[in-house]
Amino acid sequence: MKTVLEPFRIKAIEPFRITTEAERARILADAHWNLFLVRAEDVMIDLLTDSGTGAMSAMQWAALMNGDESYACCRSFYELEAVVRDLTGYKHVFPVHQGRAAERILFGCMVQKGQSVPNNAHFDTTRANVEYLQANALDFVAPQARELQKSAQWKGDLDVVKLEAWLQQQPEGSVPLGLITITNNRVGGQPVSMQNLRAVSALYRRHGIPFFLDAARFAENAWWIHRLEPEWRDVPLPKIARAMFDLADGCWISAKKDGLVNIGGLLCCNDDGIAQKVRNLVPLTEGFPTYGGLAGRDLAALAQGLREVLDPDYLRYREAAATYLASHLVRLGVPVVQPNGLHAVYVDARAMLPHVPLSELPGQALACELYVQGGIRSVEIGTLMFGHPDPKTGAPVLADHDLVRLCLPRRVYTQSHVDWVIESFAELMDRRAKITGYEIVEQAPILRAFTAKLRPAAGGARR
Ligand SMILES: *Cc1c(COP(=O)(O)O)cnc(C)c1O
Repeated sequence: MKTVLEPFRIKAIEPFRITTEAERARILADAHWNLFLVRAEDVMIDLLTDSGTGAMSAMQWAALMNGDESYACCRSFYELEAVVRDLTGYKHVFPVHQGRAAERILFGCMVQKGQSVPNNAHFDTTRANVEYLQANALDFVAPQARELQKSAQWKGDLDVVKLEAWLQQQPEGSVPLGLITITNNRVGGQPVSMQNLRAVSALYRRHGIPFFLDAARFAENAWWIHRLEPEWRDVPLPKIARAMFDLADGCWISAKKDGLVNIGGLLCCNDDGIAQKVRNLVPLTEGFPTYGGLAGRDLAALAQGLREVLDPDYLRYREAAATYLASHLVRLGVPVVQPNGLHAVYVDARAMLPHVPLSELPGQALACELYVQGGIRSVEIGTLMFGHPDPKTGAPVLADHDLVRLCLPRRVYTQSHVDWVIESFAELMDRRAKITGYEIVEQAPILRAFTAKLRPAAGGARR
């Protein structure tokens, strides 16, 4: 049998309103052509993010009822701690309200002004939390990640050669910790090989630098290692995950991804000294260290999510869903970033809409058109998100790429929803020459994509 089944059936449903193209065109105009400003109830298929948007299992909903809401030392914490210790092997386990809270607390304990923190690529909040402490966040992206449409394995890897050369030039004590992000979110959710993790771990160890994993998608990374590294083909997924965690001194996890919950995070480490500092900082923003900004029921649902996420049938289905979407888009001639990851498929909007000038935001043009066509919310990862006006001249500074990300929430959409997305792209491919760009009317000085107001570019004929 070739079909990969969704390994679950649906027990509770969330209806959405079917809208018309004319309605959606109006809604988008009212939202100033910014999809972040469109109300979720006006979206049919929401592929904005895979963060906190997954569906919980019946066992997780049952666990919620069983959560212990005691302020201190609640039972749900000890249950979660046991599951996390079993998964990661780390001695100290701190729940926090989100991944970025773990970043702020960990870096607050370890990073000083003027120091440097290396990573394969810092996720936005990771970079922001390093830079907030006036330290430098440095990315060592693997060379194979540079060509978007050329398929290569392990595009998430860290460039060990470059890191080694760089480390040799750093003054003693100037690198407080070393990181690697699995999977590499900033590079399209591409995985990191066990071979690379081993090399990076050995390098950090040789330099006496504590090594932490930004492990939001640890299960998806373990799945790729199982699928692609012959040595790990027959090893159970929990053992692969454990082998990744064993290479580092600690990790943090945004539980909104592979924790299979809608909110939560974890910070884990082995070192007693770091743990003591973390324990002192956690109450400032998260609360007593056994609940860490979460309700007891959230801890219970997370413990159950972590028990479920390494199920090979679940991860096989997740790969099949992403690959199904990516391969059908390729069949239609849509330029897709290769290879696809598990959590998202990325479309190269510059290649799909070569007639839209780069200053007129081809990624945003495609994302807007996809919403009007199919009620699908995606997100532009390009000049709207990462570009900015030049501080001196005001001229637009462009991003390196203009991508549209189609994120796949966990266990939420069925194959006919994905077929709807594919069919919407088929329609867009037919009339892509008529798709026109946008210009920014109003923008904030930082993180402009969230709130910017846009309008169709002057001279762009609307359909
Ligand atoms: C989501 C994410 C974070 C931040 O976690 P939040 O739960 O959103 O605060 C950090 N790193 C990576 C790799 C992520 O994907």
